[in-house]
Amino acid sequence: MPHSARTSLSHTSWGNVIRAEHQVVSPDQPYAAARVLTEIPAGRPAIAYGCGRSYGDVALNPGGLLIETRRLDCFISFDAEKGLLTCESGVTLAEILRATSVPAKDGSGWLLPVVPGTRFVTVGGAIANDVHGKNAHVFGSFGCHVESLDLARSDGRILTCSAQNNAELFAATVGGLGLTGLILRATLRLRRVEGLALETEEIRFARLADFFALDAESAVGWEYTAAWIDCLARGNQLGRGIYLRARHAPGVSAPPPSLGPRRSVPIAPPLSLVNGLSVRAFNAAYWRKLGTAERVRRVVPYEGAFFPLDALGGWNRLYGPKGFFQFQCVVPPEGAEAATAELLAAIAEAGQGSMLVVLKRFGHVVSPGLLSFPMPGITLALDFPNAGADTVRLMTRLEAIAVAAGGRLYPAKDALMTAESFARGYPRLDRFRGHMDPALSSAFSRRVGLSDASDGSGEGR
Ligand SMILES: Cc1cc2nc3c(=O)[nH]c(=O)nc-3n(C[C@H](O)[C@H](O)[C@H](O)COP(=O)(O)OP(=O)(O)OC[C@H]3O[C@@H](n4cnc5c(N)ncnc54)[C@H](O)[C@@H]3O)c2cc1C
Repeated sequence: MPHSARTSLSHTSWGNVIRAEHQVVSPDQPYAAARVLTEIPAGRPAIAYGCGRSYGDVALNPGGLLIETRRLDCFISFDAEKGLLTCESGVTLAEILRATSVPAKDGSGWLLPVVPGTRFVTVGGAIANDVHGKNAHVFGSFGCHVESLDLARSDGRILTCSAQNNAELFAATVGGLGLTGLILRATLRLRRVEGLALETEEIRFARLADFFALDAESAVGWEYTAAWIDCLARGNQLGRGIYLRARHAPGVSAPPPSLGPRRSVPIAPPLSLVNGLSVRAFNAAYWRKLGTAERVRRVVPYEGAFFPLDALGGWNRLYGPKGFFQFQCVVPPEGAEAATAELLAAIAEAGQGSMLVVLKRFGHVVSPGLLSFPMPGITLALDFPNAGADTVRLMTRLEAIAVAAGGRLYPAKDALMTAESFARGYPRLDRFRGHMDPALSSAFSRRVGLSDASDGSGEGR
């Protein structure tokens, strides 16, 4: 163990289900981070830890070492002609937006082409999970916009990887869950938009079939699309919700979002505030939020549309001390409506779930990563308060439905999937294995059989 390592109980994941002690090192220079990798003893592997915004265990290593990357936070260069940004891997997307998305007089500006639902994630974490946003059907995933990255390996090499150089290692590292090496820095391609503000349209819909109709209609002309679903609605209201579509508003500017949340939940309540009663009340009110209008158009800054949950820091504490699970799957387009209906019916029947339910389509833009989650189809994401065995049983059922439909689960959100489901969902695993660094493994990689289960102490669940 590197001698600068300290003991921590506070390095958890976003779902707060897994609590464990870790040894943590926080290098503040790329060369120091690269050296840590070379000092890892055999049989005691480490894993990188960014902002810990993954919900399950991809960034956890109970009893073992975490290499915290947040102090690798330097901007290296920005080519304002080409939109090429080079920075260290611990820089957050919030920091990038703050530094580069400053509106010009005509409202235009540079923007990260792909952002997930939170801006409080590191560049390294965004690459390692190959995250996606509401424009995945047009712009693909984060990795589609990575020009190159520098990867430290435990044998002491630092390799520059891109679609041209060390291309196979690049493909393994994008979406590679931190298992191929430590990303030290990356060059990202930003995009210029004619207006940083968004023209949005919200449309209430009464049933799942309407989601598919609206989504088909929005495929051309709307760059950002996603729907909120009332997960407790059943029968002929199954899959009802509110469809959100948006595109940039030419000539209208928007300020970069703040670097941190404006308000925070200070402590976890003793019990989850998200429960059957609160979800039912919220969903009934939210479904009617458009009043009699059915459809509302607005021009808004992108902050609220892209990152609604970032307004309240530590909102994950609302689920109480037992935490929560997230489930996110994607199922192929053929049979997507039937599989989504089956998933939603199982959730409504169980009476579990939360207010935060998102349905969206992934398109045919190919992700570069061997283990990237996005593939053509429909993706459903939602949180479940951890009610113990009942929740695990429901999530096992949802996993089986998704896998039987030819789909896969998202490792960034997962804490329960079996090795078998992982192997079925990710057919390029064998190619990936050849690029894994022997000094790296996580609770996730051991659980799904990617790494040797005897590595690390394996405690914590
Ligand atoms: C509110 C909220 C909304 C979200 N919305 C979305 C969404 O819309 N789309 C989506 O795709 N995801 C979404 N996520 C998930 C989140 O974007 C990802 O989990 C992201 O990867 C977290 O980044 P992080 O910096 O916190 O990384 P961590 O969670 O700390 O780590 C994630 C993975 O990256 C690896 N890693 C981190 N840094 C490095 C490095 N320097 N080198 C190598 N590996 C590294 C870790 O080992 C781990 O495997 C959301 C999460 C939250 C909390």
